[in-house]
Amino acid sequence: MRRVYLDSNATTPIRPEVVTAMMPVLTEHFGNPSSIHWFGQHAKSMIDDARQHVARLINAESSEIVFTSGGTEADNFAIRGMAESQKAKGRHIITSKIEHHAVMHTCQDLEKQGYEVTWLPVSRDGAVDPDSVRRALRPGTILITIMHANNEIGTVQPIEEIGRIAEEADVYFHSDGVQSTGKIPIDVRRLKVDLYSMSSHKIHGPKGIGALFIKKGTILKPLLTGGGHERNRRSGTENVAGIVGFGHAAKMARESMATDMARVGELRDLLEAALKSRIEFIHVNGENAPRLPNTTNIMVDYAEGEGLVISLDLKGVAVSTGSACSSGSMEPSHVLTAIGKTPDEAHGSLRLSLSALTTREDVEYVIEVLPGIVERLRDLSPYYKKV
Ligand SMILES: *Cc1c(COP(=O)(O)O)cnc(C)c1O
Repeated sequence: MRRVYLDSNATTPIRPEVVTAMMPVLTEHFGNPSSIHWFGQHAKSMIDDARQHVARLINAESSEIVFTSGGTEADNFAIRGMAESQKAKGRHIITSKIEHHAVMHTCQDLEKQGYEVTWLPVSRDGAVDPDSVRRALRPGTILITIMHANNEIGTVQPIEEIGRIAEEADVYFHSDGVQSTGKIPIDVRRLKVDLYSMSSHKIHGPKGIGALFIKKGTILKPLLTGGGHERNRRSGTENVAGIVGFGHAAKMARESMATDMARVGELRDLLEAALKSRIEFIHVNGENAPRLPNTTNIMVDYAEGEGLVISLDLKGVAVSTGSACSSGSMEPSHVLTAIGKTPDEAHGSLRLSLSALTTREDVEYVIEVLPGIVERLRDLSPYYKKV
């Protein structure tokens, strides 16, 4: 069966070149980077190269990149580390209602430990208003954490404006950049972030590896203590193969982002336009806000997201919906409810996320099969009356 993968915001296929770059690390170059002999020093130099590639992707210096086990750890490190380092100064954190669970659940956990968290609302298009950040500041605010691009609807937040506000107020600023990295140009100096999270498997690298940008001079309590790896920021023998794969994926992203994302944006726009013209009663979430070029989140009235995902899967198409079926209960996405959708509406949402490896044929196949699927599901819906 033909397989089309349009769930790249969940994870991306690893690039073959990345696998090739990783192979020698899994075989002959197995040394421990902390060892002083040739095996160790060779592994260490491969890490140094990879660190440079990751740093260059966001205009950071190599010494400001700390490798972690992924985006989740980078978010935890930034938020928990800052909460711990700054607790003598205050216990107030500002975030938004549409963060990834790695940020949201971390902030909720800190609330239980006595920190105060301001959860900023977003517009109906999923954008944070920088003025609301300014208004939420108070003596005792120690951290602002606002994601760069949203994983569900793809909206890009005004990070540069928020960065200016954070700088003026002398408050640390973290941004979860897992979805923006490799898709839009990033310059951490211009954005004025102190901390920026990234994840390899969202940019065609391997899973289980990510990084946190930590601006030079920033004091951050480590999550992991031990042998003092990563300049005492993150102990534990390095995931050398993962780091090398991430480095190669970052290098390829930097080299081809402009052409890849221009093409991906055209395909996404083609997909949205074709679906809108072929299917009644659908609309695009976050359509009027700045968005990533690869993401579309569509609301399909009179159809269940879960049913759409399953029907598409039977046709070989992988996408996701805005409801997470956990322990039998259907929880609507907190992002879709934050942009004003009812739980019913949220259940009818579909996220299609493209990548640099998506082809025109992939998109055309979805345009061909989705209208029929929606029609069939709506025919079963007691609420749907054909106009
Ligand atoms: C995927 C994702 C994460 C988590 O990254 P992992 O490497 O899978 O732990 C964090 N934030 C956002 C926005 C994501 O999309």
